[in-house]
Amino acid sequence: MTPSTSYNPCVLLVASANGSVGMSAGWAILSAGGTALDAVEAAAREVEDNPDDHSVGYSGYPNLLGQVELDASLMDGQTRRAGAVGGVRRFRHPVSIARAVMERLPHVMLVGDGAERLAAEVGMEPEDLLTPEAEAAWREGVNGELKPEDSRRRLLDRVAGLFADPEHVAGTVNFLAIDSRGHLASAVSTSGWAWKYPGRLGDSPVIGAGNYCDDRFGAAACTGWGELAIRGVTAHTLVTLLSQGAPLEEAANGAFAALSGLDVPGGEPIMNLVALDREGRHTGLSSQPGTAYVAWEEGMSNYVTLPRRVVSIAAR
Ligand code: ASP
Repeated sequence: MTPSTSYNPCVLLVASANGSVGMSAGWAILSAGGTALDAVEAAAREVEDNPDDHSVGYSGYPNLLGQVELDASLMDGQTRRAGAVGGVRRFRHPVSIARAVMERLPHVMLVGDGAERLAAEVGMEPEDLLTPEAEAAWREGVNGELKPEDSRRRLLDRVAGLFADPEHVAGTVNFLAIDSRGHLASAVSTSGWAWKYPGRLGDSPVIGAGNYCDDRFGAAACTGWGELAIRGVTAHTLVTLLSQGAPLEEAANGAFAALSGLDVPGGEPIMNLVALDREGRHTGLSSQPGTAYVAWEEGMSNYVTLPRRVVSIAAR
């Protein structure tokens, strides 16, 4: 794992398309000489605050029982320290709780009550995250059929149906940054699959699956079927390929290729990733046509929206 020798740090912020609402906040930090870690956290917080984004933070779509459960992670490429939280129900900024895990505890991941306890200890305010709009969509999405006391079997049947449902709502935000000192950071935040089984964690809080970052090589983050990115260790696979000398596009192809042949419960497997290498090259891939990512580089007056390269995943 030898880093390449020629290296000119290039200040850069890359995100999934729904991260566009956070680009200015992230860029303000990077362009003022701030850290990549501060930039990705600040950018993700903007998306967590966005009530129109039902896949992240406040107003995220809830689980099968109508409870919002947020997941997030953050990684520092300089130290390869990381923080992650899952199943957060009452705090709108899981990315900042993830940072508190990383900086204040000797742990990497907290879930549920423990994550909320830490959030309260560091001064965050609890609130109800389920908006009337998200609740109405949930009622329609689960056809008003499910109640908290429903049997496990009934809930499982409903979740199995979601895999084959082309309308099922998904989303997540990814941010990757390089700062003026050449340090990298990555952040991912999500409310996960709409109507997911209670307690389900996707790839977003799993370091190596939905998020990975290493100053020496690059960074990657995913959206799409979290179960696939966990099984394929997708973000880490890409960075490992970079560490072995693969150019960025080849490493991204390799991370997608590692997903081929995984059996899936039904429907078309969906995977998207954004990635960058330490020289500031960036890319976006998707298994679906017509998707985009955003990037802001030194010298630009605003971010640009770029098409993702379509790479299909062969299901078994
Ligand atoms: N990857 C997210 C999850 O599985 C969802 C998504 O990106 O659509 O929770």
